[in-house]
Amino acid sequence: MDCGGLDIGGTKIEARLFDAGLGTIDTRRVPTPRDSADGFFAALGGLVGWLRDRSGTDLPIGIAMSGVVEPDSGIARTANLPISGENMAARLTEVAGRPLPVMNDSMALAFSEANGGAADGHAAAVGMIIGTGFAAGVCLDGRPARRPGGIAVEIGHCGMPARALARHGLDLWTCGCGRPGCIEAYVAGPGLTRLAAHMGLGKITAPELAARAHEAAAEAVLAVWADLAAEALETLQMTIDPEIVVLGGGVSQMPGVVERLQAALPARLMPGTPLPILRLARHGDASGVRGAALLARMTAQGEMPWRP
Ligand SMILES: [Zn+2]
Repeated sequence: MDCGGLDIGGTKIEARLFDAGLGTIDTRRVPTPRDSADGFFAALGGLVGWLRDRSGTDLPIGIAMSGVVEPDSGIARTANLPISGENMAARLTEVAGRPLPVMNDSMALAFSEANGGAADGHAAAVGMIIGTGFAAGVCLDGRPARRPGGIAVEIGHCGMPARALARHGLDLWTCGCGRPGCIEAYVAGPGLTRLAAHMGLGKITAPELAARAHEAAAEAVLAVWADLAAEALETLQMTIDPEIVVLGGGVSQMPGVVERLQAALPARLMPGTPLPILRLARHGDASGVRGAALLARMTAQGEMPWRP
């Protein structure tokens, strides 16, 4: 059975059509409408129509997006899309004829990688997105862990441990969520850029920094970043205890990120705590939307009795 996914980002929405083996048949991208919910849902309806035409069937379609859909009310809560407060099932029924299963993008990454990806066969798998934001999802025995709030593992908005800030002489930087000292403010892409500026490198992006890693000043920034990111991984290890952490998102694509984090982590873990395996996402940028498509197919086949 074909299945499809919509990957909703802050700048673009990608529709991806998969065959029965979850191989990509075709993709289409449109800019994310940011002005109104009506325009946003109309764009989703257009992409659903394209998937149905391209497949020639009324295929299962799932959605991966940042934020959360409250399990009981069906209300969307998301920071950078124009749909906060909208009832997803009702609006999707208007434009697509039926509700479509929606999954947080970090949870979708974990789900995809735990099923035919880098975390396949691992009982406790975390998918972690390090990009413009910093968030994670968790799967146990290959299924999204069922929790009443429906949220992902929002570790980016836990506080960066004071000991880490003290070690590097860093102040409490304000996060995009408005609170001081969140992990995301230091470890996500904008945080890395800010860290580089703070350490005297001026305005520089993550890829530019990685390209200059042979220079001592850039290497120093990357070393501090890896130490801060290792603190975040330590928090994750102490709370969730995953066997494996699969990395996605733009910052994780910097050369050598897995090796850097592997090297930094032992010094941050409490003695005796098992080290997680760290891997890059096997399905790359398409992993989240692959997870959403798999969710839709399993839901259609009655294999997912509850909504993640
Ligand atoms: Zn925050």
